[in-house]
Amino acid sequence: MSGNKTFTIIKPTAVKNGYTGNILAIISEAGFKIVALKLVRLPFKGAEEFYKVHKDKPFYKDLCIFMSSGPIVAAILEKENAIEEYRKLIGATNPEKAKEGTIRKMFATSMQQNAVHGSDSDENAIIESNFFFSGIEMV
Ligand code: ADP
Ligand code: MG
Repeated sequence: MSGNKTFTIIKPTAVKNGYTGNILAIISEAGFKIVALKLVRLPFKGAEEFYKVHKDKPFYKDLCIFMSSGPIVAAILEKENAIEEYRKLIGATNPEKAKEGTIRKMFATSMQQNAVHGSDSDENAIIESNFFFSGIEMV
């Protein structure tokens, strides 16, 4: 059975460009309930830890530099079938391939700076949520 929670990050460029409010509004209008939310800046080591599944990829180091380059907004979102529903809402990793109306289509500036992160499994949603939030920060 699929779970009802996913984890997201609004990435540095999208925060810097002032899209946080718009993106959170789209998320809410799509029926997700925000159950945890914070503005933080990841240290480089934190970005390395968060993206460690990609450590052997050619884009890993630049991605970690980018993700630690400025404030990000982290959130836990609740909706039935959250992982799949949120991946649909954000669109393809490559914004050129993302469908019209998706968050990445609207707000991404490149493959690396693709506006938002979305968990890819229930297991990773829990790991990622626990990486950013303590128990009392999750309502
Ligand atoms: P997603 O975020 O859609 O789950 P991945 O988990 O494959 O995608 O990749 C994690 C992040 O790494 C992407 O969101 C993007 O920021 C970056 N990334 C992935 N592939 C590339 C690439 N070929 N070039 C540059 N950055 C990439
Ligand atoms: Mg991924």
